[in-house]
Amino acid sequence: MTTAIEDVRLCTGSGLGEPRRVVFDGATLLADSAAADEVVDGAGAVVLPGLIDAHMHMVLGRVDLENLVYWGVTTGLDMAAWPAEFVNAMRHEKGVAQIVSATIPAVGPGGNHAKMPGFPADGIVTTPQQARAFVERRVADGADYIKIVTEAAPPAGMDQPTVNAIVAAAHEHGLLVVAHSVTTGAFRVAIEAGVDVSTHAPLDAVLDDESVARMRETGMVSTPTLTMMEGTAELFAARGLRYENARDSVTKFHEAGIRILAGTDANSAPGAPFGPEHGESLHHEFELLIQAGLSPVEVLAAATSLSADTFSLKDRGVIEPGRRADLVLVGGDPTSDVTATRNIRGVWIGGERIR
Ligand SMILES: [Zn+2]
Repeated sequence: MTTAIEDVRLCTGSGLGEPRRVVFDGATLLADSAAADEVVDGAGAVVLPGLIDAHMHMVLGRVDLENLVYWGVTTGLDMAAWPAEFVNAMRHEKGVAQIVSATIPAVGPGGNHAKMPGFPADGIVTTPQQARAFVERRVADGADYIKIVTEAAPPAGMDQPTVNAIVAAAHEHGLLVVAHSVTTGAFRVAIEAGVDVSTHAPLDAVLDDESVARMRETGMVSTPTLTMMEGTAELFAARGLRYENARDSVTKFHEAGIRILAGTDANSAPGAPFGPEHGESLHHEFELLIQAGLSPVEVLAAATSLSADTFSLKDRGVIEPGRRADLVLVGGDPTSDVTATRNIRGVWIGGERIR
């Protein structure tokens, strides 16, 4: 069945375009002139590509993916989930958000992650010699990219040669590397190793100018998860961690022209220090990114086209013929007030209307 959303506006690079049609047949967007069996009135509304949460965790399975899609998040970039059988089964669920996944992350032997109940021993990497085998296990699992947890120094974190070796092995397999870094010291380890994406933002201090300059030179991308940083800073304020350090680092990234992606660290893990809600939290992240200096149009790109481009999700992130019919219809104008993304009038995933 072919569906047309009539009289609807799209976000262009600079704001809203003129009202037009958006047509799709099943899972695929068509040319806007195509005939349609069914018409949806889009007057007064804006249609966005399905939103992408660039940092989430699938913990409970289908219910997490249902919550994402209810809030217009049609793709989740999972940043640690296991076992591989569970992850791969969830890739095929219908009528819910789609996921891609890092599967098991690499962590140092003495850090908090290694001590988490149920953390697989297979994710603990201690020497450069173990790095290649770790990456090969992830390739066998079907991981879409490699996630590592960097810390300022061993034994909490892996040492610099080990991190470097994981990055080299991942790149040989053509996989991106995403590094969890929540302190300035951990950021410097990630930058030195040449990771592709840093996730989280430092809570101990604002990242120094030299590190920011190196991020810009190497094209490193940031998924700051300000929602998570806000929640954790509140919990650990007594240790001198401050949300403002994370926010002000993002302001520096933005001013330096570093690509920023919208991610939340949504998780439903019982042992996690703070658990942003799947789906709803991405709309909160938008507000925090605005406070850090991004424009609404930049925030919308951070949750759609830029994430799709960074992670080579070539079938989504943009509304144009041939791409997936993952769509969110919102009332109001999110390019002038980003909170309009909460005013959801419809969600389609692969052309199926679920809200
Ligand atoms: Zn995470």
